[in-house]
Amino acid sequence: MIKFLTYLVLSVIVLSGLLRYSLEFESAQDIAIEQVYRAGMSNAANGLPNPDSLRVFVCGSASPLGNTPRAQACIAVLTPSHFYIFDSGAGSTANISGAGLPYERLQGVFLTHFHSDHIAELYELNLASWVRGRSTAMNVYGPKGVAKVVSGINDTYELDVEYRVEHHGSDLLNPNLAKLKAETISAGVVLEDGDLTVTAYTASHAPIEPAVGYRIDYRGRSVVISGDSLVTDDTRRIASNVDLLLHDALSLPLTEAAAEAATTAGLTRLAKIISDVMDYHASTDSLIELGADTDAGMVAFYHLVPAPANLIMLKIFERNLPANFVLANDGDWFELPSDSADITYTNQ
Ligand SMILES: [Zn+2]
Ligand SMILES: [Zn+2]
Repeated sequence: MIKFLTYLVLSVIVLSGLLRYSLEFESAQDIAIEQVYRAGMSNAANGLPNPDSLRVFVCGSASPLGNTPRAQACIAVLTPSHFYIFDSGAGSTANISGAGLPYERLQGVFLTHFHSDHIAELYELNLASWVRGRSTAMNVYGPKGVAKVVSGINDTYELDVEYRVEHHGSDLLNPNLAKLKAETISAGVVLEDGDLTVTAYTASHAPIEPAVGYRIDYRGRSVVISGDSLVTDDTRRIASNVDLLLHDALSLPLTEAAAEAATTAGLTRLAKIISDVMDYHASTDSLIELGADTDAGMVAFYHLVPAPANLIMLKIFERNLPANFVLANDGDWFELPSDSADITYTNQ
């Protein structure tokens, strides 16, 4: 048996060495890239499985604080006939593309507020879905101020749209679908689209006003997406008995340690900014209480403040978490089958 295992290990080492060496030759490189492209295009053409579930994809799990490859705030919500994005932070469009989400049926984006880490890639998202064949203009729902944000983006990228239409032709790229369309919303039901309802609620992110979070209901299943907020009575009401609560989360031990280190190093501007951040995001302790108060089925922290850059930070962030709590990663999936109590969590 030992002889066989030794033989097996040696064979694997020799074969991988040969494979690596073969990639020095152009013909081998060409064959390899052909296979990689074919597999990628075939996946894109086949699309994702489309079960009758409320599905949630984490396209961004970071806040601006922290040194991390994670994308900033972004959550995608899909059913067989719906596809909406909630916030569009830096780096999130690449995650959406990488996961093969169906851009061609993207219906709109909901914004929680207008901090840069929630809106940075609105145009990238608009462009990616326009190029892939989205059939209506992209609606951008948000509280008062959304019209200003959308108008600025449309102005900024007017030339980009012109270049692309001229280059690829208006039959392929309809210029009427290239402009974002603002929809101002306030707290209450903001969208009823077949079996899917989106309800906005008031978030507490002072001095940023207005700021909202959203609850999505679909065939007996529910998800709350907080955006940036402290825990308030509104949060408790909207998250009551929710299946999945996605909330921004701040680790006080980590932020306090970072602020103290910045002060000690004489980085007073940085220390002040880190200290300021502590008063407008929900602490992990307040979310643990919220989870118990609301009887949420599962609680996922996203928009992590700060985004953990190593195992030590991760362990500190996870202190005292109940079994139904997780720290979301970019690329995570949550699947909530219709009219059931199950949640399938696929962790990256
Ligand atoms: Zn914010
Ligand atoms: Zn934020």
